[in-house]
Parts: sequence; C-alpha cells; structure tokens
Amino acid sequence: MVARCPYCTGEVDDRALVCATCGRDIAVPEALVREHDELIRKRDRLRTELAEARARLTARGRRLAPRTGAAE
Ligand SMILES: [Zn+2]
Repeated sequence: MVARCPYCTGEVDDRALVCATCGRDIAVPEALVREHDELIRKRDRLRTELAEARARLTARGRRLAPRTGAAE
C-alpha cells in the first residue's frame, strides 16, 4: 500500500522505515518523537541539577564517592 509521508507528503510504502523523498524516519509515531524529546529535556535538567549538587558538595569540602564518576 501507499501512504503519505507526514513531513513532505510524498508517497511512501506504508511499510517503509524511511521516506524515499525527504529521507526522514517515518516508522516512529510523532507522539513517541515528542515523548523522546521531552525525556531528553528532563535528562538534561537532571544533569544540570546533579552538576549543581556536586558543586555545592565540593564547595563544602566533601569528597565524592569514587563510584559517582561512572554515572554515564
Ligand atoms: Zn518525506
């Protein structure tokens, strides 16, 4: 079957993972893309908070536990 690309409205096979016209990923529903973006923002916010918390601890002269270096 033929479907329409949600980005460029070009014709795409409805089983295609990528639009042949614009090259964008069309297999992932837009709601999931938005949720992913939101999770990325939350992650960045938490990383900022963590960095600030570490800075406060450092300012107090405390030593951080060695395992905190492997947080990634
Ligand atoms: Zn397209």
